[in-house]
Amino acid sequence: MTVLGCSGSYAAAGESCSGYLVRSEATTLWVDCGPGTFANLQSHVPLETVDALLVSHHHPDHCAELPVIYNAAKWYMGLESMRVLATEGVREVTEVYGDSSDLFGWEMVKDSSEARIGDIDVLFSRTDHPVETLAMRFECDGKSIVYTSDTGRGWALSALSRDVGRPSPDLVVGEGTLLHATDSPEIPHVSAAWLAADANDVGARQLVVTHVPPGSDPQDHLAEAGEVFDGDVAVARTGATFWA
Ligand SMILES: [Zn+2]
Repeated sequence: MTVLGCSGSYAAAGESCSGYLVRSEATTLWVDCGPGTFANLQSHVPLETVDALLVSHHHPDHCAELPVIYNAAKWYMGLESMRVLATEGVREVTEVYGDSSDLFGWEMVKDSSEARIGDIDVLFSRTDHPVETLAMRFECDGKSIVYTSDTGRGWALSALSRDVGRPSPDLVVGEGTLLHATDSPEIPHVSAAWLAADANDVGARQLVVTHVPPGSDPQDHLAEAGEVFDGDVAVARTGATFWA
C-alpha cells in the first residue's frame, strides 16, 4: 500500500488529501482520489495501468479528482474505459460536471458488497460518518489490508474481520484524525488512540495512522497510537509504502 496523500479534510502546504495505491504483483487499485493525489499517482504508475478506482465516499477530500481524472483519461490519454467502484453519492457529485459513463464503468457498491479486481478481493462495510462511507478490506494471496476511510465511534474493525468470519488483518490503514486533546463524540472521526485500541481488538499485526488534518502534528498521532497499539505502528507519509 503506497500513500498518494494523507491530509485529513484539506491538504497542508505541499501535501495532498486521501489517496492510496493498493497493489499485488498483478493488480493495481487506486483507493480514494482526494485533491493532489492524481499528480502523485503519476510518480508511481501510469493511469492506464490502474485496474480500478475505488472511492469510499463523496466528501471532497476523498473524491474531488474524479472529474479531473475523467478529463485526463478521455482527452489526453485516450483511455476507452475505467472501472470505478463507488457509492451513489460519488457518482452524483462527479456527474455534476456531466455524464461520465462513456468512460467510467460505474459499479455502485454499498455495505457488504464484494468485488474481485484482478487477483484482489474487496469487501466493503459502511462506517459511521455523515454520508454513506465505505471501509474496505483487500485480500490477496492470504494477505489482507483494511482501510477504514472516515468513521466515527459507531463502527469498528470487527465489521471487516471476525464479524464476517475473516481473519485478523495484516495491515490496518486507519483514520486517527483526532488526539486526546481534540477528541469528542460529537465529531464524526476517531482519535489515534481509539483507532489503536480497535486495531488491537481485531488482532491487527501492523497499523498505519492516517487522515491527520493540517495543524495537527503527525508525530503526536503516532505517539498516542503507539502508547496503545501492541504491534508495529507508523503514521502515513506521502510516498511511503507499507507491506501487508
Ligand atoms: Zn476525510
